[in-house]
Amino acid sequence: RFGTSSAAEEIINPSVQVSHTQLLINGNFVDSASGKTFPTLDPRTGEVIAHVAEGDAEDINRAVKAARKAFDEGPWPKMSAYERSRVMLRFADLVEKHSEELASLETWDNGKPYQQSKTVEIPMFARLFRYYAGWADKIHGLTVPADGNYHVQTLHEPIGVAGQIIPWNFPLLMFAWKVGPALACGNTIVLKTAEQTPLTAFYAGKLLLEAGLPPGVLNIVSGFGATAGAALASHMDVDKLAFTGSTDTGKVILGLAANSNLKPVTLELGGKSPFIVFEDADIDKAVELAHFALFFNQGQCCCAGSRTFVHEKVYDEFVEKSKARALKRVVGDPFRKGIEQGPQIDSKQFEKVMKYIRSGVESNATLECGGDQIGDKGYFIQPTVFSNVKDDMLIAQDEIFGPVQSILKFSDVDEVIKRANETRYGLAAGVFTKSLDTANRVSRALKAGTVWVNCFDVFDAAIPFGGYKMSGNGREKGIYSLSNYLQIKAVVTALNKPAW
Ligand code: NAD
Repeated sequence: RFGTSSAAEEIINPSVQVSHTQLLINGNFVDSASGKTFPTLDPRTGEVIAHVAEGDAEDINRAVKAARKAFDEGPWPKMSAYERSRVMLRFADLVEKHSEELASLETWDNGKPYQQSKTVEIPMFARLFRYYAGWADKIHGLTVPADGNYHVQTLHEPIGVAGQIIPWNFPLLMFAWKVGPALACGNTIVLKTAEQTPLTAFYAGKLLLEAGLPPGVLNIVSGFGATAGAALASHMDVDKLAFTGSTDTGKVILGLAANSNLKPVTLELGGKSPFIVFEDADIDKAVELAHFALFFNQGQCCCAGSRTFVHEKVYDEFVEKSKARALKRVVGDPFRKGIEQGPQIDSKQFEKVMKYIRSGVESNATLECGGDQIGDKGYFIQPTVFSNVKDDMLIAQDEIFGPVQSILKFSDVDEVIKRANETRYGLAAGVFTKSLDTANRVSRALKAGTVWVNCFDVFDAAIPFGGYKMSGNGREKGIYSLSNYLQIKAVVTALNKPAW
């Protein structure tokens, strides 16, 4: 019984129009240099929502030129930090004022439930900008007590033109994680949106201009990875690159940066995060949070708890309850009220997830529920639960990025720590136990950028996020993200005489 709920019958009908489909370069919405466009599709149906400008290398050049001019000539990096912060605060207010349009566009382009867009993502988006607005006038260097007769200080300067490449799973939040800290530090930006979800970034770009962001400070280019994305990563006049997406693309980008001007790169890549349930955990709560950790956002989260490790003593009960929860999950049109899960983003991701489901069945994991498409239109997939999953199965090793939960069994703490760490990824982990000792010991032993204890997916603006191993490098959010967008200059001045 998937996709049905009496509460889900009512359709939310926001009257949203697609107002911006052109590239944002130097404060103006313009066609791509080639005049080419590409369609962005509605994941509910596969139908075209709008045709959007297809930027390529020439457009990236135009955008970088505008960003360079806005950086070198100002006013943005030269403005008082307080004024910069006020622009960002005005923007956050405008985001709230236009939250319905933004949430509708996000859901239309991405397929995520409207209620989630409206009540989770837009507030988090505004909060991120307010958080970094708060930092803008608190970024400063140090005086350094060096040996000898010198006055030594460090200056924290903006790094210059930041190139930013974002994915389709959280189009607005990824915009905020990248653009927020870069603006607070006084940089200018060229942002390349994901080809699946170009619409909300343009809308947000328009609101930033309305809030008083000077032309050329934020340039937005929609287009494809191999053309626009690669041109940005290899551009000689881009001073820093930030990327979120797949590990394979992360490797390509690092190579492009290394082979051009050695720009520093921060990477936020894939994951295969363990969610570990000990025998003393509150099982009902752990079942609910394990469900959320995997199925949230149609399973399309880099930090999804996609290896659910459960202690053997509570394994059968946990599997039974997880299956019951998945069967209750309400899947359907994301514009309907009460919907928990919409369609996958596109046919490519849909096919990929279905391939992994087949692989799970073929490798003899037990299919507890789900496994099929829902309907014959769009990219809806039944919430799927596998039990008796073994570490060497593909579904326990690869990032599926879909609504497929894999439940594995373990018998002691050392064993589960070892198995949880036996992955090329290291983005996040969940630990469920009532024992403080177990929680502390396991949190310290896990090789992951975030460990959530008796909770999951807590994404406060102040909490850093990023990966160990092939989940990437660098941290976003919080104070840590600022260093991605700053140059540190040491100024050493000789003193004629000791000061005292
Ligand atoms: P992707 O890595 O190919 O795309 C992410 C972004 O990188 C997009 O903006 C894309 O245009 C750009 N890009 C692609 N190739 C590029 C290149 N050669 N040079 C520069 N930019 C390039 O991801 P995808 O194909 O959309 O999704 C594939 C898989 O990636 C998913 O199944 C999932 O496993 C993973 N993924 C992870 C995240 C995350 O948050 N870590 C987000 C989306 C996808």
